[in-house]
Amino acid sequence: MATPLYSRVLVKVSGEALMGPSAYGLHQQTVDRIAADLAAAHELGVELAVVVGGGNIFRGVQVSTQGVDRATGDYMGMLATVMNALALAAAITRQGAQVRVLSALDMPAVCETYTRPRALAHLERGRVVVFAAGTGNPFFTTDTAAALRAIEMGCGALLKATQVDGIYTADPKTDPTATRFDRVTHDEVMQRDLKVMDAAAFALARENALPVIVFSIHEPGSIPAVICGGGRATTVAS
Ligand code: UDP
Repeated sequence: MATPLYSRVLVKVSGEALMGPSAYGLHQQTVDRIAADLAAAHELGVELAVVVGGGNIFRGVQVSTQGVDRATGDYMGMLATVMNALALAAAITRQGAQVRVLSALDMPAVCETYTRPRALAHLERGRVVVFAAGTGNPFFTTDTAAALRAIEMGCGALLKATQVDGIYTADPKTDPTATRFDRVTHDEVMQRDLKVMDAAAFALARENALPVIVFSIHEPGSIPAVICGGGRATTVAS
């Protein structure tokens, strides 16, 4: 069996990833497939944290074009991440792993509230921790929450599951000459203006020398593979 490179990682799963072929919301087969991948990663003996997005339900920016103010729209987006977190946690539980959902917004009837000591205690006890409600603040994204929680938890890497299998010199969907990086530094990402995460999220990763591994969520088995140093991916490291 392959050996994990990290003892603790955080995986960022976008809301869009949970949508599968649907136009909105959750696609149960896709949620189950991602949960199986996460459970397989956990079975490697790795302490596993997950940040889930909400873009499959609400994005604050979009809602704010429809007459709701931006901050309120962002809170709606954060609530969407809580729904996704509950669905993903249920699917991971069905795979046989112990899971806890920790929300940055206080909602004790629904799930536990995030505190750093509580999250660390769950991870140390071998529970998968799913972080919900992003950072708990409007005007941020779940990518920023992922970088923040990965640093707070002392994770060895942030695994960013995306629609493509890494970071390219240009958008591979529109530019056939685009080539993929296997490895790139945080500084090169800045110099070449490569698209990895939004600026606030990437600044946190760079300042704290957090490795970010970008890979495709569409490839079954990619999460455990990447944790063991395999799979098609781009690693951003200093
Ligand atoms: N959001 C927020 N603060 C956060 C994280 C998320 O206000 O710390 C809101 C924001 O409106 C965002 C939405 O929640 O558009 C869903 O998150 P995101 O767009 O990051 O989800 P993803 O693109 O990963 O599905």
